[in-house]
Amino acid sequence: MALHQTESGLGRPQEPWREHAKCRWTSVDFFPVGAGGPAMRQLDAAKTVCRRCPVAEECLAYALATNQQFGVWGATSEQERRRLRRVWLSECAGDSRLSI
Ligand code: SF4
Repeated sequence: MALHQTESGLGRPQEPWREHAKCRWTSVDFFPVGAGGPAMRQLDAAKTVCRRCPVAEECLAYALATNQQFGVWGATSEQERRRLRRVWLSECAGDSRLSI
């Protein structure tokens, strides 16, 4: 359960969108370790859950904004998210209304 690992510990999600997270109710591992076959199968399984998740967009936005470096968030791998975050940061830097 990906999101339980970042909860406040009070048993309730910190953001309302987490109430609808598909990963709350699955045994799929959202934190695959390594780059071998088993890790790739875990990654695919987690992404499959994410693709059916109604809050995937919110999840990915949260992961980018809070620099979640590990695990699967919003159907993205760690490597994919690093690339997306670089783009996201450059877009934020170009928008003078935002401060990071
Ligand atoms: S997109 Fe994936 S990691 Fe994010 S809340 Fe949904 S199931 Fe969980």
